[in-house]
Amino acid sequence: MMGEFELIGRFFDRGPPRRALLGIGDDCALLAAPAGGDCLVIATDMLVGGRHAFDDVPAAALGHKSLAVNLSDLAAMGARPIAFTLAIALPEADETWLGGFRDGLFALADRYDCELIGGDTTRGPLNVCITVIGQVDPGAALRRDHAQPGDDLWVSGELGAAAFAVAERRAGRPLPDGHHARRRLDTPEPRVALGMALRHLARAAIDLSDGLAGDLGHILERSRVGAELAWPSVPAAAALDGLAEAQRMRLALSGGDDYELLFTAAPENRVAIEALAGRLELPLTRIGRIDAGNSLRVVDARGRPIPWQGHGFDHFA
Ligand code: ADP
Ligand code: MG
Repeated sequence: MMGEFELIGRFFDRGPPRRALLGIGDDCALLAAPAGGDCLVIATDMLVGGRHAFDDVPAAALGHKSLAVNLSDLAAMGARPIAFTLAIALPEADETWLGGFRDGLFALADRYDCELIGGDTTRGPLNVCITVIGQVDPGAALRRDHAQPGDDLWVSGELGAAAFAVAERRAGRPLPDGHHARRRLDTPEPRVALGMALRHLARAAIDLSDGLAGDLGHILERSRVGAELAWPSVPAAAALDGLAEAQRMRLALSGGDDYELLFTAAPENRVAIEALAGRLELPLTRIGRIDAGNSLRVVDARGRPIPWQGHGFDHFA
């Protein structure tokens, strides 16, 4: 049986750090403070076995997703990733599983030049807790509390595919590994480049982990504003085509795990945002606007309210 330190050495310690002054192997890591006027940006997200991850999710996908959900939080602030720590509890030291997990984790980490600088390893029910560190100019950080009446409401990518994969699985019809909706659920792409490019274009932003309606609610609450959301403009994933309208609405508006960015921006930035969508080859869709009210109204193509009882995902609901 592999010991704790052998496990860290074999799977997580990749030798001398590139970005940190001191990486894995001491009591703490040493990281230089960001240059210029940037501040550090820090977020933590935990994946619990059974709760977030179905048992049959490939280890590489789990490695990817554990970091992706954290990078998505950095993206939502407009931050550039720097480094992360990994606290992991494992029921057993299965080398095949660890190799897959490590490969998925580092493939994503390297794409964003985000370095693993430390962590903790223990035996226990599967639990992966990553803390990610990034940097951003505090004046340009995208916050939840900066939306203003009159702002356009935008969303990146498409919505509902991941929730569709979960729903199919729960209904006893699991989608095959390579299915588009499965990939959206298992290996979401954090919108890091978009977040950074939005620093001077967007006013408020949030990443969509718990469903559009619920996450938009956080912006509305923190910014003390309301919003009108045009359901026909919402970019529902193609996987939802053919479902009953109520089901499409539920998956696209309250389904979780999309990891797209929802943001507000002044209307004078429309052209620049559309150009950005072209440059990033990522659809950016205007789906409504912020108003001076205090609620979320979902409307049809002619601006008439659609009865809507849905809400976002809440772990304690
Ligand atoms: P300590 O007991 O002083 O907290 P540990 O024995 O837990 O240190 O860890 C030894 C070193 O290995 C530390 O530098 C720690 O950051 C690192 N480490 C432990 N687990 C991981 C992990 N899963 N990934 C990366 N680094 C880890
Ligand atoms: Mg420790």
